[in-house]
Amino acid sequence: MANNAAKNPGPKGPAFTDRRPNASLDKRQHNKGIKELRRAIDERQLLLYYQPKVNSRDGRIVGLEALIRWNHPRRGLIAPGQFVPLLEESGLILEVGSWVLKQAATDFLAWTRRGLAPLRIAVNVSPSQLKHENFINELERALRIDKVGHAGIDIEITEGVVVDDIENCIRKLTAARELGVRVAIDDFGTGYSSLRYLARLPIDSLKIDTSFVRMVTESPNDLAIVSAIIVLAHGLDLDVVAEGVETVEQCKFLRLLRCDQMQGFLFSKPVSKDAIEQMLKSGANTTAQAHVTSDSSSSRTISEPEYRQRREAAEKTWALK
Ligand code: C2E
Ligand code: MG
Ligand code: MG
Repeated sequence: MANNAAKNPGPKGPAFTDRRPNASLDKRQHNKGIKELRRAIDERQLLLYYQPKVNSRDGRIVGLEALIRWNHPRRGLIAPGQFVPLLEESGLILEVGSWVLKQAATDFLAWTRRGLAPLRIAVNVSPSQLKHENFINELERALRIDKVGHAGIDIEITEGVVVDDIENCIRKLTAARELGVRVAIDDFGTGYSSLRYLARLPIDSLKIDTSFVRMVTESPNDLAIVSAIIVLAHGLDLDVVAEGVETVEQCKFLRLLRCDQMQGFLFSKPVSKDAIEQMLKSGANTTAQAHVTSDSSSSRTISEPEYRQRREAAEKTWALK
């Protein structure tokens, strides 16, 4: 299958994501992917998109997540799922990760200087980046980009990296927080975090994975999981961000469950630097505010009585009132 996928890459390009170079296909294809990525780095084809996170209370944009894209000269914009695994496998992620930190800090500084709301920017940090002995130095260098103060950079890490080496992780995250960086656990609920580890970690927030958020209005199990994560996070004095919020119903449920922040296509897809700048300038917050505060049923995909019934059930089950 990997063979076919790589030989017939389809509109999205070759199978950069094949993690088995010696499997059915094709070390050559794999090496070609790495070479292309090397060139992409040298020719500055990588860029950052930004997606807003909004406050669940009033819909205001409170931060941005930086998400990498590959602007391929022939294939157009390629999503990270197609090439980040190969960056990690080849070790190129260290160089790219360091560029992402610097670029996000540079953008932050430029926006702040132009008087745009100084929102914090969260950067995804891959496991090998965090584990690298130079990580804290790199972070510090990126933050001191203006030689005066710290940029408003936060980091997102996944659960797996924590479980691998908890002591090392605690040490690094403590050092990062001393630099003013806030730390989030990304895709929470999909890894194998031990709750005991979670309590020991110097972190600030949990991001609930898209897969749970998608089903929160449909499946009692997902509702139970999302609700439990929110209660757990608040019990540990952490903020909670729901990822992948796409509908007004999901937004309303998450507000009822006291989720602190939301991120998702309902508010905005990840967009270019210019587009996010426009959004920040023109107060596109108002759209998000309307979604968050509106009781309109126009964009619901379920009927009003059904919606009310589910909402009441959620309130009863989770004692939300
Ligand atoms: P992530 O950090 O969990 O980022 C959230 C992903 O969910 C993004 O996908 C975003 O576009 C997508 N998303 C946001 N809202 C919605 C929604 O409402 N519906 C749906 N269906 N999806 C939504 P993206 O940009 O393709 O990034 C995928 C993953 O690639 C990221 O997941 C992150 O793990 C990784 N990644 C992205 N940029 C970087 C980077 O600079 N460095 C590293 N190491 N990894 C990165
Ligand atoms: Mg993330
Ligand atoms: Mg995530």
